[in-house]
This record gives sequence, C-alpha cells and structure tokens, in this order.
Amino acid sequence: MEHKMKPESLMMTYGYKPELSEGAIKCPIFQTSTFVFKTAEEGKAFFEVAYGKREQMPNEELGLIYSRINNPDLEILENRLCLWDNADDCAVFESGMSAITTVLLEFLAPGDLILYSNPLYGGTDHFIHHFLPKIGVHTLAFMPGKSEEELVELVNASPYKDKLKMIFIETPANPTNDLIDIEACKNVANKFNSENEVIVAVDNTYMGPLWQHPLKHGADLVMYSATKYIGGHSDIIAGAVLGRKDLMKRVKTLRTFLGNMAGPWTGWLLMRSLETLKIRMEQQQLNAIEVANYLKSHPKVKKVNYLGLIKEGTEEYKIYKKQYSGSGAMLSFDIIGEEKDAFKFLNSLKLIKLAVSLGSTESLAEHPKSMTHAGVDDEQMKEMNITDSLIRISVGVENYNDIIWDIDQALSKV
Ligand SMILES: *Cc1c(COP(=O)(O)O)cnc(C)c1O
Repeated sequence: MEHKMKPESLMMTYGYKPELSEGAIKCPIFQTSTFVFKTAEEGKAFFEVAYGKREQMPNEELGLIYSRINNPDLEILENRLCLWDNADDCAVFESGMSAITTVLLEFLAPGDLILYSNPLYGGTDHFIHHFLPKIGVHTLAFMPGKSEEELVELVNASPYKDKLKMIFIETPANPTNDLIDIEACKNVANKFNSENEVIVAVDNTYMGPLWQHPLKHGADLVMYSATKYIGGHSDIIAGAVLGRKDLMKRVKTLRTFLGNMAGPWTGWLLMRSLETLKIRMEQQQLNAIEVANYLKSHPKVKKVNYLGLIKEGTEEYKIYKKQYSGSGAMLSFDIIGEEKDAFKFLNSLKLIKLAVSLGSTESLAEHPKSMTHAGVDDEQMKEMNITDSLIRISVGVENYNDIIWDIDQALSKV
C-alpha cells in the first residue's frame, strides 16, 4: 500500500544511497572541486543538459560535473528541503542574502517595478533601496494591513504599473510580527500579469519551513536564510530558494554564473541540522508560548508582539488562521521606558545571549532600533512601531522556566 512519509521521517535517509559511498550510513562530505567522467561522451552529455542545450532524456542518468554546478552534499540537501515546502526544486546558497539577491537579479530588469512589504530584513531593505535603483529598477513599498484593493490602487497609481514584475514580501515582518496575506498578494500579481508573469516571492525565514508554507498560498518562490532555523545552531551562514521547476531553473542558472552556491561542508552541516529541525522548532515554539504568556501580564511590559496573542475577530487573526500552523518562536515587546531601560534589560540578561540572528538553539535578545534595523530611516521606523523600547527575542530550546527566570530577573533591574 502507498504510504507517504512525513518530512521529519525522511531527513536522515532521503536521496542518499549508502551503496555509492562504501555503505556509510551518513552522506560523506564530498570535499572535491571536480568529478571524473568515465568517457568524453559522458562528459559531453552531462554538459548538454547542464547548459540547457537539450532536455534530460527519460531514462538518462546524469552525473556530476564540477562543484559550482552540482555536488552530492548540496543535491541531497536540496532534495530534502523540497519535502518541507512540497516544492519542485531547491537551490542552496552561501547566505540568505545571496539567495534573495539572486532572485531579485534574475527576475528584475532595468525599467521594471518591484512592490515590496515593509518592514523587510535590513540587508534586503538595503539592496532594494541602494542597489536596485542603480540598475534602473523602480521600487514601491507597502505597509502591512493593506487590503487587496488598496494594493491594486497603490500599483495603479505608479507610472511604472505596466512594468510590475515582482511582489516581494516578508511575513511575519521582522521585528514586529505583522502579517501579510500571501493569497491576496498573488491575486494582485495576477491582475498585473502581462507577457511576463508577476512573481510573488516570500522570505519565509521567520516561520519556515515548519509553520508557514508560502507556495501553498500562491507564492511562486520561497526564500530562506538557512542561517536561522534550518541551520539552527548559530554556526553557519547559508540560504535557500524553492519553487516551481521553470523558475528554479532560472535561479540555478544564475547561481552557476554568480558562483554563490554553498560549499559541501555547509551542505553537510545543514543536512545534519535538518534531522532535528522539527523537534527543535517545536520545543522553541512551546517555550515561546510560555514566555509570551509570562510577558503579557508583566507590569513593566507595554505590549507583546507574538502570533499566539493576536486577538480573535481581527483581520490579522484571519490571516493567522489561514496561513500559519503555529505561532512560532519569535517575539518582540516594548518595555515601559526608553532606550536606556531597554539597554538595562539587555545588559542584565544572564542565560539569554545579547546577539542578532535568530532561530538557534540558544535564546537570543537584541534591540532592533539600534541593531538589526539601524539602517532604516527614522520616519519609517516610527511608522513600523520600531521604538526605542522594543526588544526582540528569539526563543531557544532551553528549559522555559530558566528563560523566564532570566527575563524576570533582568526586568527587575529596569
Ligand atoms: C538573516 C536574515 C536574512 C539574511 O540571511 P543571511 O543568512 O544572514 O545572509 C534574510 N531575511 C531574514 C528574514 C533574515 O532573518
């Protein structure tokens, strides 16, 4: 009988054949730049397919060429990542930023328009504001909370509306946890499709690949900083893009020529991380729920931004119910006070580390306004509720009683 296994059951074995590696139960690190062809004819055939000169034939077995094009550690990792998002194909990069910028460069040309959500990850924000205009790409931002009709109006008001080529979103938004409706964005994209498709690309670093599957809601591409939950141990920088076969072919081709693929060692470490992805993330979420519930009634805390605390009956709650299968492990909160009070809190933490990044086994805390979002201009910062007193916490896998104890003692110093 046909039985479809869950991704977490397949992370240890999927896509790897021990008999090709001396029976080793784990995929070895293929620390090699190039691969030996059996014959010249074979080498020719591999290149014909890799360079798109012809399609792969039905029963044709393709081999490896050169580690900038393909490497077993990356290919097996990519096959495993596809299972979580039910994607046709995946490309792994040397950083989340290289995954994101490769997508932007492949699908945008001079004269095109990109519509994007605010706030975005600082690096993405910088690339959209400072690099894309240099190559003649027009940019248009929108804030969370906009309806589908308002987004259509916004694009219609742009002189470049006929050149809309991409809608780029990050949901939940970092650091405020504002939600954006992916399906509504896809509907907007469909309204502006011309001979070139308008692509919906979603940065799913905050919730993926467990609690949100953007491809299911109409996204064409999903991107990750694999440095965060996928890597999960604060020890590597990596990124990934997943999506439809024809789009991924373009992403992988540009990756071949930019040469920004991850190396075999990173691929191997990420495979190791994927084996515990689900149990790590689930424990982090359980802990985050406890922390959010503790914070929400603390007299020194003004407001807690956490998906699990979104009020029923609101528009945001509708998006939450439709788009997410969990409340995640990222939260932020406003301390009653100013920057010095937020700093006092951060400086008083004992277990939780004061560092940027997120999604790792250890809990991390930071001050978005002066750290991760320092590059965002003041006016926008205000509009996005990134205040002097806002603290962001990435909840780790520690015992939640210890995390809460630490937050409690640090708040008592404020
Ligand atoms: C960290 C991060 C990135 C950038 O990823 P790197 O791996 O640091 O290059 C992009 N988007 C989000 C949401 C992130 O948190």
